[in-house]
Amino acid sequence: MNIILLGPPGAGKGTQASRLVEERGMVQLSTGDMLRAAVKAGTPVGLQAKAVMEAGELVSDAIVSALIGERLDSAGAHGGAIFDGYPRTQAQAEALDLLLDERGEKLDYVVELTVDEEALVDRITGRFTCATCGEGYHDRYKLPKVQDTCDVCGSHEFKRRPDDNAETVRTRMAEYRAKTAPILPFYETRGLVRRVDGMAPIAEVGAQIDAILDGAA
Ligand code: ADP
Ligand code: AMP
Repeated sequence: MNIILLGPPGAGKGTQASRLVEERGMVQLSTGDMLRAAVKAGTPVGLQAKAVMEAGELVSDAIVSALIGERLDSAGAHGGAIFDGYPRTQAQAEALDLLLDERGEKLDYVVELTVDEEALVDRITGRFTCATCGEGYHDRYKLPKVQDTCDVCGSHEFKRRPDDNAETVRTRMAEYRAKTAPILPFYETRGLVRRVDGMAPIAEVGAQIDAILDGAA
């Protein structure tokens, strides 16, 4: 099963993807994570992407689609892939169709997480992750069970993204509205879109997604 998690920054895509990875053995393909790894490693792609990401704008379609293609081949995603943060433009949506087609795969669902934009600034400015394993947390909505200790790996080191500030979030939301939301009709005409209330608590959002993947919704 191949699914896209679609929604603005902070909608909960990464949170739900990592749960699906854990519970269903699916593979998470996050272009944001791939780009951050490239920036950290100082690769040519990373050098090109760094300033664009810090400004909250979109990296070029050619770069992200190439990253996804490489990862589809190396990740062994036959148990199912979750596209998280990709596609973000019409050109990327068309590129993804081609990439899947070439590999004899297809899309099963596009799960749209619908959220109230005002809540997103709060979600994003409160977001932090484990510096060791990448598990995601939030200052109020998802704190580690033991203070300053990662639930998953026990690390005591956490980090925050440089683009997770109120000003950049506004640009990222504007990019979503202008370039990403308009790709929904492309999938709607194919009957692939399922909507989930992304404002519900994390576990409830998960249950709604499970019902879709299990064919019960
Ligand atoms: P995205 O990957 O869509 O940018 P994340 O999954 O990283 O979003 O979620 C953004 C922040 O909001 C994280 O700190 C996460 O813990 C928190 N979060 C995710 N889903 C919910 C929810 N349903 N309710 C409250 N907080 C949430
Ligand atoms: P994310 O981790 O999905 O919030 O992405 C962080 C940043 O990486 C975005 O604000 C963009 O600058 C860049 N990015 C991630 N995925 C894409 C994509 N599919 N297309 C263009 N830019 C992307």
